[in-house]
Amino acid sequence: MTTETVANRRHRVVVIGSGFGGLFACKHLKHADVDVVLISKTSTHLFQPLLYQVATGILSTGEIAPATRLVLRKYKNVQVILGEVHDIDLVNRTVTSELLNEDTVTSFDSLIVATGAQQSYFGNDQFATYAPGMKTIDDALELRARILGSFEEAELAKTPEARDRFMTFVVVGAGPTGVELAGQIAELADRTLEGTFRNIDPRDARVILLEGAGAVLAPMGPKLGGKAQRRLEKMGVEIQLNAMVTGVDARGVTVKDKDGSERRIEAACKVWSAGVAASELGKLLADQSKGTEVDRAGRVIVEPDLTIKGYPNVFVVGDLMSVPNVPGQAQGAIQGATYAAKQIKAELGGKQTPEQRKPFKYFNKGSMATVSRYNAVCQIGKLEFGGFLAWLIWLVLHLYYLIGYRSRAITVFQWFVAFIGRNRGQMAATEQWVFARLALEAMNGNDEDGREVRAGLGGKGATALPSDRSVS
Ligand SMILES: Cc1cc2nc3c(=O)[nH]c(=O)nc-3n(C[C@H](O)[C@H](O)[C@H](O)COP(=O)(O)OP(=O)(O)OC[C@H]3O[C@@H](n4cnc5c(N)ncnc54)[C@H](O)[C@@H]3O)c2cc1C
Repeated sequence: MTTETVANRRHRVVVIGSGFGGLFACKHLKHADVDVVLISKTSTHLFQPLLYQVATGILSTGEIAPATRLVLRKYKNVQVILGEVHDIDLVNRTVTSELLNEDTVTSFDSLIVATGAQQSYFGNDQFATYAPGMKTIDDALELRARILGSFEEAELAKTPEARDRFMTFVVVGAGPTGVELAGQIAELADRTLEGTFRNIDPRDARVILLEGAGAVLAPMGPKLGGKAQRRLEKMGVEIQLNAMVTGVDARGVTVKDKDGSERRIEAACKVWSAGVAASELGKLLADQSKGTEVDRAGRVIVEPDLTIKGYPNVFVVGDLMSVPNVPGQAQGAIQGATYAAKQIKAELGGKQTPEQRKPFKYFNKGSMATVSRYNAVCQIGKLEFGGFLAWLIWLVLHLYYLIGYRSRAITVFQWFVAFIGRNRGQMAATEQWVFARLALEAMNGNDEDGREVRAGLGGKGATALPSDRSVS
């Protein structure tokens, strides 16, 4: 246990989360006279916008998820700690994280919370069993194995009904992720897998995009939504609007239409990209502060300086913050984290006090979504356009924000292989990827086998060893 005391150490900034918010906070604090401790439950910095390309065999996880520790190697004032934060004590200024059933307590002077959001099933968490979301590396690999596994099953199907079920792919939610996924599953079937099976023709696959609202890409407006819809339909994707999913099971989904009638779609492979719920740390913070609330998605309604009421040293940034007109996008997280780091630096340097902070101002750089190879839609200010130019801009911007020259070079090569040719470089999939999530959930449940495995590994629910971990 360290004997260092709060009095004799440098100002410590604890950053929770290694996504865009967490990473950019560290980046802007690297030359400051502070010590930074970054705590994250994942060991990587995940570039979520390209997850769908991992799911559809274009990229490997290495390109979009470099180890945070390696990314921050040269940031000598930053320490990286792996662990899931489950408690924050604002009065005593401590953060408690857990790694394999052992707690670590880290004290802070300033705190930047950037723990983002997870998939939301709108109260129907049981849907997750059969329709994974698209938020993590595990999700993307599971989905890749489910997509490719469905084609394998179809090749061996004994009845036309079973073959059709395995050849039907349902994507729930027509936001950017749903649009990108539906487009890539269609291209995978039409181009990459074409001619590789003997009993089935992958081009017969049905890709169905279900949307509860009345439009594709609704936040981008009718013009761009219409463009994306027409392009997808040209590729053979079936788009069903005003179609609410009311049930998901192993064999398909139940859909309720606008007129109230219900129908079934038989489909082995389903993916959920319909909603987000903020990290639970948002509520934990709000409950401790004097009057801060969370919105319906659990995001913290922050003060104009991105802090919570009564705690000017506690910033909430990225997808976890709720700020009017700031979308849950990488730019919001990057700008929020940059702002928080600047306030901390200015106040340590004596240039301002918390009372003198100027409010956070979001600069909207636009938004975009790819629909297929060579086709994207793009919104920059009042400018709205689609097609090849939009796709080129999308390509350059995504390369720019990918971390590391190696990742960029390999990504360009993989895109070349997939978009100019028709092969994809990352078509491996294992049975484990399909079942590991459910097995882990069972292991973390209450059955005896699970308890034994956990006890052996020191995982959740194992007998706790006395912990002496602390970063005081
Ligand atoms: C599939 C997909 C596609 C997207 N496409 C785009 C796009 O094209 N353009 C765009 O601008 N945005 C896109 N986004 C949104 C963008 O990725 C997010 O807005 C951005 O990642 C938010 O950054 P963040 O730092 O707030 O959270 P995240 O990047 O989600 O990072 C959260 C971090 O917190 C960690 N964490 C969570 N809980 C805990 C805990 N309890 N303890 C410790 N660590 C914890 C996680 O491990 C992670 O490292 C997309 C998102 C997804 C899911």
